[in-house]
Amino acid sequence: AKSRHTDLLDDLNPAQREAVTHAGSPLLVVAGAGSGKTRVLTRRIAYLLAERDVHPGQIMAITFTNKAAAEMRERVSDLVGRRANAMWVSTFHSMCVRILRREAKTLEMSSSFSIYDSDDTKRLITLVARDLDIDPKRYAARTLAVHISNLKNELVDPETASSNAANDLERRVAEVYVEYQRRLNQANAFDFDDLIMRTVELLQTFPDVAEYYRRRFRHVLVDEYQDTNHAQYTLIRELVGTEANEAGIEPAELCVVGDADQSIYAFRGATIRNIEEFERDFPNARTVLLEQNYRSTQTILSAANGVIARNPNRRAKRLWTDAGDGEKIVGYVADNEHDEAAFVAGEIDALADKGEADYSDVAVFYRTNNQSRVFEEIFIRLGLPYKVVGGVRFYERREVRDMLAYLRVLANPEDTVSLRRVLNVPKRGIGDRAEAVIATYAERERISFAQALRGAVNGEVPLLNPRSAKAITGFVELLDELGEVVESGAEVADILEAVLERTGYRAELEESDDPQDASRVENLTELVTVAREFTEFTAEVAGPDGELPEAEPGVPEPGSLPAFLERVSLVADADSIPAADGGDDGDGHDAGVVTLMTVHTAKGLEYPVVFCTGWEDGIFPHMRALGDPTELAEERRLAYVAITRARKRLYVSRSMVRSAWGQPQMNPASRFLDELPGELVDWRRLAPSSSSGGFGSSGGSPRAATTWGRRGGGTSSPSGSTGTSPFGKGWKDTVALKLDVGDRVSHDKYGLGTVVACDGAGPRATATIDFGAAGKVRLMLIGSVPMVKL
Ligand code: ATP
Ligand code: MG
Repeated sequence: AKSRHTDLLDDLNPAQREAVTHAGSPLLVVAGAGSGKTRVLTRRIAYLLAERDVHPGQIMAITFTNKAAAEMRERVSDLVGRRANAMWVSTFHSMCVRILRREAKTLEMSSSFSIYDSDDTKRLITLVARDLDIDPKRYAARTLAVHISNLKNELVDPETASSNAANDLERRVAEVYVEYQRRLNQANAFDFDDLIMRTVELLQTFPDVAEYYRRRFRHVLVDEYQDTNHAQYTLIRELVGTEANEAGIEPAELCVVGDADQSIYAFRGATIRNIEEFERDFPNARTVLLEQNYRSTQTILSAANGVIARNPNRRAKRLWTDAGDGEKIVGYVADNEHDEAAFVAGEIDALADKGEADYSDVAVFYRTNNQSRVFEEIFIRLGLPYKVVGGVRFYERREVRDMLAYLRVLANPEDTVSLRRVLNVPKRGIGDRAEAVIATYAERERISFAQALRGAVNGEVPLLNPRSAKAITGFVELLDELGEVVESGAEVADILEAVLERTGYRAELEESDDPQDASRVENLTELVTVAREFTEFTAEVAGPDGELPEAEPGVPEPGSLPAFLERVSLVADADSIPAADGGDDGDGHDAGVVTLMTVHTAKGLEYPVVFCTGWEDGIFPHMRALGDPTELAEERRLAYVAITRARKRLYVSRSMVRSAWGQPQMNPASRFLDELPGELVDWRRLAPSSSSGGFGSSGGSPRAATTWGRRGGGTSSPSGSTGTSPFGKGWKDTVALKLDVGDRVSHDKYGLGTVVACDGAGPRATATIDFGAAGKVRLMLIGSVPMVKL
């Protein structure tokens, strides 16, 4: 054992070693980016197994993505082989699903529950709000959903929300919350926030359940601790315990690692309070600081520090590296976003040509998903292999969601949202009116929608016309038939095939002339492939003898329909990130591609070459943050995360003009560019070429060529501070369109839509508009907007 011991500690610095070997009291590792926090966590697990005789089944580790979890598990497998299967390494959500499956009965749910994602949630809230006669213009479903989510993140249950409600909005939210929660229960479903909140409820209400997990997990480890919200924090505390319980079980050993400067999920309720008050929450906690950065050059570290140092109320950190200064940061001011993308593509090509970087060494970051399109266009044109992480995800496509809804109904017949989604898909003559009649009947009889449907078959539902009743009978029979396929033990892919076939869904798409429907068929084929691979993967886990790893209650049977649904419900953006080493990422297609993603998704990752694009006030920092110091601080942390992903080379770029929402828009330089120490940046180009017209070219600062700025987050309107505009009439207009939630509009490019939210005022006014199939788009209302109000 001695030799293994030294192996495990050999390549660690003294502080890291201390964190890995510390035993007993709770441990907090706080340190800047790239200082080896994640490495410490993984190594600590290895050390527990190798040197402290801990059984893998006693370990629970929480990571930020399923991908990170898989990697961690792999490393531990290398060390202890298949015993690693008994260890729980997962995201918060996956961990809770596992506990809830096992304990569902205790919460009066069935273990075949559905998991509602944000889209399902919004659908259900829309239904509830409609039934409660809530004016969608005053209270959009999205707004209600955000408020309910916030309450859940704070562990406020519906009853408490009701009694605490102090104003009209809060009363409305509470009213919806109460009913929404009742319907979730009735549908045997949990939403994402419930997964955490209800697990906490379970542990707090049922001491024997809590005791079971406390006995079982003697080591709990959490990565990215700065991004835990109150509910997640409470969950950890309940699992670990703060003192010996009645049965005399001591608290489990807790180890959390994090960096307050990288807290970027405040909008989901994350709070660095959890770091700041760790020592108060956990008596006799030990804190270890790591100060050596192993990831980046000194230049990159200094740049990161230049930015983050501007944030108020932060604890300064000393982060150093012995990697040397390395290359200067390269800056570029583009004429427009196409020019910016061309610059990025050109640089990547040049680096590859010179053999200085492989495609897989490169990541391109942007602030919001919609910025990926321009890069994709040019990468495709130049034949540069790339992969976009996140964005419009496969599982969000309509046809994929339709099929998953069928599967969910088959796994959990009470799943109302899914059931209502597929009720008339493809069209089978069950119209809105029939659906409303069933819903009302269900409501009145206090039975589920599924039960009411069966009632309709037996002629128990009044006011239902015979034709609808007949259609419903056909639908119920179809579900029963498909249910038999599931019962017969068919593989998920075959169940899916049966659904596609017997519902007529595929036939309808195949007969259509719409080219979009052809790509829908392709996506469905892809989904079947995913399901096939899922079963094959399970077979692999089982090994050639077909023996499965130790079956655990709470885990759906490997390869089963519930297991498949759970898997697709819990994929996170970052889970599709190509392997950074250019190696095989499961399907092998991802070798050697450039990775495009938002900064949020990049958390915890590292790349030799990083492009930070769109550094413009209004883009990054986000428009929302310009007048708000708290939000601005969060954006700055996001910039810090972006910069610190880079190991050797960092590029920053911005564009003078960017067409946002179909309109060219002048964007001033991001204030974060000014915060980079000037001597570290080599500006390849500071001023746009003369062809873009109207701009003087003066050097010296990335801001010099800006015609109007908003330094300090002021609210000066663009029309007030500039003379001539290169865009002619229009861009100087003040607000051209006054819109309200609920308004119908027609947009030249996106077609017909409904306003679902309005934000900001004056030159910052925006509207979020649901264009149906074209999706949801946030539009600036300034300038000559190619849209009319209907
Ligand atoms: P982040 O804050 O971005 O999550 P982190 O603190 O988790 O970063 P790691 O990802 O664990 O940092 O480590 C950063 C890089 O430094 C990794 O490539 C890791 O392998 C390497 N590293 C960490 N510690 C050491 C060490 N003692 N010796 C050599 N390399 C190390
Ligand atoms: Mg990390």
